[in-house]
Amino acid sequence: MSDKYAVIGNPIAHSKSPLIHHAFAKESDQSIAYTAELIPLDGIEAGLDTLQQKGFKGLNVTVPFKEQVWQSLTDKSERATLAGAVNTIVFNDDGSRYGDNTDGVGLCLDLTQNHGIDLANKRILLLGAGGAARGVIQPLLAFQPAQLTIANRTLRKAQTLAALFNHLGPIRAASFEQLTDNFDLIINATSASLRGDVPPIPSASISSQTFCYDMMYSNTDTAFIQWAKKHQAVKTSDGLGMLVEQAAESFRLWRGIKPNTQTVIDLLRQ
Ligand code: NDP
Repeated sequence: MSDKYAVIGNPIAHSKSPLIHHAFAKESDQSIAYTAELIPLDGIEAGLDTLQQKGFKGLNVTVPFKEQVWQSLTDKSERATLAGAVNTIVFNDDGSRYGDNTDGVGLCLDLTQNHGIDLANKRILLLGAGGAARGVIQPLLAFQPAQLTIANRTLRKAQTLAALFNHLGPIRAASFEQLTDNFDLIINATSASLRGDVPPIPSASISSQTFCYDMMYSNTDTAFIQWAKKHQAVKTSDGLGMLVEQAAESFRLWRGIKPNTQTVIDLLRQ
């Protein structure tokens, strides 16, 4: 019988994770069954218990449960601890649970390997200070950028994150109005694109050398990507590659094999 895995969330029907993980399994000759499981909003603990009792070997966790799962798990990776969120759970054979967060490494792999960006010494602007932003800060700082600036509508949240990660590298917080210089890389980790909005980024932040990356993915250009193209960004990308790369890192944790991601990115782009 195939080992069972699932992505849990609410809502969850839209998730691309079953398609991605089955493609990984096929490509790497692994036998798995991967489903999308809807968990009641007030039922995360019962949901984890039920899935573990049913013999699931691991889970991906998505909105809105990443922070709740982080709170409930005691055994976590350092990157998950710093991220304040868990997106991957391993159910061990002895009944214990282990939490990890692969979102940050997923973003960095997409930027460095799929887009060929050298993050060292780059001036990076991270827009947003929610869960997605927090999860990518430590992995980005590990590449030793010249500066990581976090800009957020609510400045206090950006300041909190900057203080939290200050010991790991050059990081500062800013309001949108305080942005006066341009950046090599702008990463949109706000949820503004979900509503077709663009954060109020000053045009001085972008030059013809700026790479613009939206964590949201879409078949058509997001509002942020449209803004970037209008301001002559050198290159743009949505977050589909990040989604596939974070999934590949989860797959590696569960199966001990790192699948080929480019074929799956190409498949999803079709
Ligand atoms: P949160 O709700 O935790 O945070 C939302 C952030 O967006 C906050 O910083 C908020 O600012 C800001 N924001 C919302 N609307 C606006 C606006 N109109 N103008 C300016 N700022 C705005 O969301 P997450 O961090 O969980 O997710 C953010 C995005 O990242 C989503 O689009 C999500 O789909 C994407 N994502 C993609 C992944 C991938 O694999 N590609 C993985 C994880 C997330 P404030 O603090 O002021 O409210």
